Amino acid sequence: MMRVGILAVQGAFAEHAACTEKLGAAYVLLRKPEDAAGIDHLILPGGESTTQRKLLHDTGLFSPLQEKIKAGIPVLATCAGLILLAKEVSGGEGCFSVLPVKVQRNAYGRQLGSFSAVGDVGDISGYPMRFIRAPYVTEVLSDAVQVLNETDGRITAVRYQDLTALSFHPELTDDLRIHREFLGL
Ligand code: GLN
Repeated sequence: MMRVGILAVQGAFAEHAACTEKLGAAYVLLRKPEDAAGIDHLILPGGESTTQRKLLHDTGLFSPLQEKIKAGIPVLATCAGLILLAKEVSGGEGCFSVLPVKVQRNAYGRQLGSFSAVGDVGDISGYPMRFIRAPYVTEVLSDAVQVLNETDGRITAVRYQDLTALSFHPELTDDLRIHREFLGL
């Protein structure tokens, strides 16, 4: 049976848990190092990446999650999660630094801080994307990075090996296609 770990130190973890539950997959909320034992999928939710990075270290979750990521379990990272995975971050610091992209934090400025768009995300067509003070990818640092979505000329979704990282928030819509694809259902 699948066991999805959802980082639950800060941010939109409850919404990801609800999506996972709707799809009938077992999940565990990750709050302390022991929680990471036995997970085979990882979700890094949106929130505040600086706070999440601090709490990852304070709780001791950083090392076990880094091990899981390095071992290659599938990871779905949304918004702040994209920042945590990125190798290079403008306007902030990285954390796991495994995804060969450069991201810009709070990239849309104040007026456009939050907005919605509809677009294709890889093979998923017409997906409703909700952006909240989102980062986006300003540079792809490896040919192995697949761009899944560009909105207004900006890269907002990428895949690299088993890492899928999105600028937007699939957990805040009723459309479960991204979670379903991630969980291989
Ligand atoms: N602006 C946040 C950050 O830099 C990300 C926003 C989000 O996750 N909704 O961490």
